[in-house]
Amino acid sequence: MIASRASKIEDPVEKLRFLKTTEKRFSQIEDLLLSPHFWWLSNRKIWITVAFLLLIPTLSLLRRSPLPVIDASAVAGGKLSTVRPAPEVPLEKAYLIDNRGGVETWSNGLHIETRFTTSNRPREYYVWNRNAPQASLSRLPSQQAAGIVYHTTESTLEELEETQLRRLKLLGESLLQYVQKEKAYHYVIDRFGRVFRVVVESDAANHAGKSTWADEEWAYIGLNDSFLAISFETQTRPGDESPEITQAQVDSGRMLTRILRSRYAIRASNCVTHAQVSINPSNFQIGYHTDWAGNFPFEAMGLPDNYELPLASLFLFGFSYDGTFFAATGARMWKGVVSSEDLLRSRAGKDSISVAQLRTQLRNQYRRLSALLPESNEPAGTTDSRASNPRQENP
Ligand SMILES: [Zn+2]
Repeated sequence: MIASRASKIEDPVEKLRFLKTTEKRFSQIEDLLLSPHFWWLSNRKIWITVAFLLLIPTLSLLRRSPLPVIDASAVAGGKLSTVRPAPEVPLEKAYLIDNRGGVETWSNGLHIETRFTTSNRPREYYVWNRNAPQASLSRLPSQQAAGIVYHTTESTLEELEETQLRRLKLLGESLLQYVQKEKAYHYVIDRFGRVFRVVVESDAANHAGKSTWADEEWAYIGLNDSFLAISFETQTRPGDESPEITQAQVDSGRMLTRILRSRYAIRASNCVTHAQVSINPSNFQIGYHTDWAGNFPFEAMGLPDNYELPLASLFLFGFSYDGTFFAATGARMWKGVVSSEDLLRSRAGKDSISVAQLRTQLRNQYRRLSALLPESNEPAGTTDSRASNPRQENP
């Protein structure tokens, strides 16, 4: 190699200088090898080299895009540590500054009306350590909500005009009475942007039905207990992927999300829509409920585009989807679905099995874990939107 490089140098002076320098380097190496400190030196060099080699990939990981990305290479040996969410930015603490006449005033300017507030059973939920596949379920401190699920009420709407004020108010009142009776959501945001607390935050609400989600640490089965519910008063029309909400609803949704995230240290990646978490275990299909299957204004809520996150139901528990799902959702959740499929293929490849075989294993995992859930934690049915008939949705 040295001769080959030397032969390419045409200038004879340069060629000689190259050969002399090379010879000198070899001589220094030879001296080093013969020195009594050789092993100490060489070991130190080895350690420095190893540390450096380890440092490079670590730094490159840290320097990558802050957007949620999929690290398919981590899907090995049963370890499903695949979702690397955006780094969490500490949220400014929001606190209650006044509470009178059935209205709470919060430090970020949000007013929460409490005249429809009701209780349900106290929150109590179990999680699965997804990095220890053989693990059982663990019970987490019951007061600590893990996430937020966004819903639409799918209730009857009236034109948002001043002349319709009486009917608008009537519809809003009857909706809130219904939600209160069904203990359906923790919060409802009406079309004027007014925020109503219905089920108290310390209790479960019947909002998610059969559902699942996962962050990088825990998998959640049945989100009625573990996740808080915020529902926007609106209706998804058939074939319409983007239910309309008013700017007032967006503003209130953002402030409420901020309050809840700061109170319970909720990760941004655990703020998701009902369509992302809904499942039907009887046929192992996703998207039984389809509210906010597309165009949920994540950014306006102060969140990253969580539609990019893979769906735990698909990549962790082997659920599937069919044309009905895409017909109902308009395929707006394709990013998460594609990410999930990539993860499945990658893991199946590493385990040298087919994707179908992997799905069977993951479904058995779901069956094993859901059978461990205590009966009290079994999700109560929700009357939320359904893929087979989205117009059926009443809260
Ligand atoms: Zn819903």
